[in-house]
Amino acid sequence: MANPSSSSPQHSVKLYGQPNLPWTLNREPFYLETSVPGSFAAGDVRRGSVKRVASAVGEGAMVIAFVHKYLGETQ
Ligand SMILES: Cc1cc2nc3c(=O)[nH]c(=O)nc-3n(C[C@H](O)[C@H](O)[C@H](O)COP(=O)(O)OP(=O)(O)OC[C@H]3O[C@@H](n4cnc5c(N)ncnc54)[C@H](O)[C@@H]3O)c2cc1C
Repeated sequence: MANPSSSSPQHSVKLYGQPNLPWTLNREPFYLETSVPGSFAAGDVRRGSVKRVASAVGEGAMVIAFVHKYLGETQ
């Protein structure tokens, strides 16, 4: 099971849903996008995950759509 260590203070990546997510772009973060634009956290590692296989799979599938959106806006 993944450990959401990226939310610990010694790491610079902040997870979607954290208060005061550091954010540099003019748009709102996409669902599950971290403080690094274009980088997403899904499954157990995301903030507030419910620790279920089906959730991890579904979130991963959703994130793909947002990855495509992100790639579309950067080209
Ligand atoms: C004992 C146990 C029983 C469970 N029973 C159920 C159940 O009955 N039903 C249910 O729905 N859920 C159950 N779960 C929860 C379910 O296993 C997780 O919710 C699900 O596996 C999360 O998927 P994930 O892809 O987010 O993370 P993971 O399945 O943990 O996958 C993360 C992967 O990333 C890899 N990884 C970690 N760090 C790095 C790194 N630095 N570089 C490269 N790779 C890395 C890990 O090795 C791992 O393969 C159970 C969990 C446990 C521990």
